[in-house]
Amino acid sequence: MKKNILGYTLPKLTEEFLALGQSKFRAKQVFGWIYGKKVYSFDAMTDVSKDFRNVLNSDYCVELPKIFTKQESNDGTIKVLLEMGDGAKVESVLMPYNYGDAVCVSSQVGCNMGCAFCASGLLRKERNLTTAEMVGEVLIMDSLLEPLGRKVTHIDVMGTGEPFDNYDNVLDFVKIANDPFALEIGARHITVSTCGLCDGIKKYGKEGIQINLALSLHAPNDELRQQIMPIAKAYPFSKLIPALQEYSADSGRRLTFEYIMLRDFNDTLDCAKQLVSFIRDNNLFAYVNLIPYNEVKEKPYRRSEKTRVNAFVDYLKKNGINCTVRKEFGGDIDAACGQLRSKQVGVKS
Ligand code: SF4
Repeated sequence: MKKNILGYTLPKLTEEFLALGQSKFRAKQVFGWIYGKKVYSFDAMTDVSKDFRNVLNSDYCVELPKIFTKQESNDGTIKVLLEMGDGAKVESVLMPYNYGDAVCVSSQVGCNMGCAFCASGLLRKERNLTTAEMVGEVLIMDSLLEPLGRKVTHIDVMGTGEPFDNYDNVLDFVKIANDPFALEIGARHITVSTCGLCDGIKKYGKEGIQINLALSLHAPNDELRQQIMPIAKAYPFSKLIPALQEYSADSGRRLTFEYIMLRDFNDTLDCAKQLVSFIRDNNLFAYVNLIPYNEVKEKPYRRSEKTRVNAFVDYLKKNGINCTVRKEFGGDIDAACGQLRSKQVGVKS
């Protein structure tokens, strides 16, 4: 089977080409064609010797996913269902913020974490995505933006899947995303979002990278959190808090807490108070991103009313917690993460 070059970090490809007797610069040259010029045919890489192009053609490939379905919203959001080489399908979403174009990248085909509000988790995990497939998600979005004279500027590994359940592939992916010779996206414009796998959080803090970490918190206490996130039973606050503290101490980075606003469930003023205590009492260096819920017909949860969201934000801010409400995109298409895929692939019970 041919090896997909999109799955290699530059140091790994350099090492591999050196072992094939090539110069130290060969990998950088090939990266320049792929990421700089968006040339995916080895035959077109004219500064690479003919002999080595033959080696590349016989042992390597540059394979991108195919667009299976595409939805475009009036607000500029683009949602694609991508088909991988083996037929597996995953969702990627492009969101046009005023500061740039962000892609929400999936890291697994389906997800086993079973969060009760989530459309992505309606379909169980089939497999991990490879590094090359995640890079492919971004390159596909770049190809859609190119005619508009734009490119992807921000990446959130926040689509379908739990990134730390696919740790090594995700780590290589974010390194390629951040590499100035590859996708060239600033570390602070890349965020990896976990539902709270403590071992992954601790390990990630020790990687020495500046890439952001977001935790899907979604509730201010174990009791509520365990009702909507099964992972919280394996990793209750007694384990999660020390892991977050260790991450902050090792990385020196601020955390983001994602908090999805579910009506009459976690959106009360009492919950806001508990959230403030959770952050302050545990000395967590974090800001809170409140997420308006996109309702999923198979799920019982409802969207919080705007007045509730505003009161929640006000309380957090008054108590010194940095807080934003996530801008909403794609209201006229399948807005909830995983909704397009679950419709197209079919929800298995
Ligand atoms: S919210 Fe994320 S971790 Fe939870 S089921 Fe959905 S995709 Fe998986």
